[in-house]
Amino acid sequence: FDPSGHRKQSKAEAKEILAEATELLAEYQMRLAAQDTYGVVMVLQAMDAAGKDGTIRHVMSGVNPQGVQVSSFKVPSSEDLNHDYLWRYARKLPERGNIGIFNRSYYEEVLVVRVHPQILAAQKIPAKLKDRGIWNRRFREINDWEHYLTDQGYRFVKLFLNVSKEEQRYRFLSRIDDGDKNWKFSANDSKERAYWDDYQKAFSEILSRTSTPWAPWYVILADDKPFARVAAAGVLAHTLIDIDPRYPAVSKEARDALQVQKAALEAEAPAGAAPDPYAAALAEKAAEKAAEKAGGKKADKAEKAEKAGKKGKKA
Ligand code: ATP
Ligand code: MG
Repeated sequence: FDPSGHRKQSKAEAKEILAEATELLAEYQMRLAAQDTYGVVMVLQAMDAAGKDGTIRHVMSGVNPQGVQVSSFKVPSSEDLNHDYLWRYARKLPERGNIGIFNRSYYEEVLVVRVHPQILAAQKIPAKLKDRGIWNRRFREINDWEHYLTDQGYRFVKLFLNVSKEEQRYRFLSRIDDGDKNWKFSANDSKERAYWDDYQKAFSEILSRTSTPWAPWYVILADDKPFARVAAAGVLAHTLIDIDPRYPAVSKEARDALQVQKAALEAEAPAGAAPDPYAAALAEKAAEKAAEKAGGKKADKAEKAEKAGKKGKKA
């Protein structure tokens, strides 16, 4: 896969599409929360400086923060290492109705752990289980776990932000040259870059072994940031549209009960106040809209007439 070989889209165009997409995501996230049945897990994997953080920031910019939890997974703690390897990820699964974002994930367990054998050596699993078959077993375990969770009503959005080696070099240099970005750069980043080929190999095996019908991978070209964000938003939107969450229907009895409450509140109106000021405001708004529409139609007609007139003159 070549992360740089794609059409450059205009920045303004990408921004516009992203704005529309975030609006749609906000609406769907509200419905997801109201329905309170499905949960979404968005998994982000990438080489350093591929833009995971920026993608999360932009894609989720319109969504209610209460419905989204971002979990960043770094080097495991000693408490993590005292458990099975999926333990710390299971603890961060979102509640139903929520979107959980995994900024790095259990895929590091078949990625960085594979690239650096000393990490596996330090894991507290029995020595005889650290045999060569371990990666095949982990692929199977990860697929099974995702399958189990899918059967539980979770949906996975797995994104690999695929940055090219040359673009990573450019972004590292920008983090060194630009003082405000220095904090983003660590010497460890260069160290990992030296293992580029090993990472690519591990990634390619992850993609072919763990892209399943229930939890497919999406490879996103990441050299062009606006494009990558639009693509990420698109995949998430696609998943939410597929879930098609609905606001729960209110029963006839519940609606009747609401009318009783309404009557009680209306009876409380102070002297001179409208019994239901909200209904009055609603009616006013509707009237305004209707007037606008009528005005718009007139304007349309005028415009058409003008165009027709121009055409007439030309002819
Ligand atoms: P940023 O640099 O933008 O803050 P990051 O995700 O790169 O984000 P770092 O603190 O730089 O965060 O790096 C986290 C490191 O932890 C990565 O090198 C990653 O490979 C490593 N890591 C993540 N999960 C595991 C794991 N299960 N075992 C060992 N190392 C891991
Ligand atoms: Mg880093």
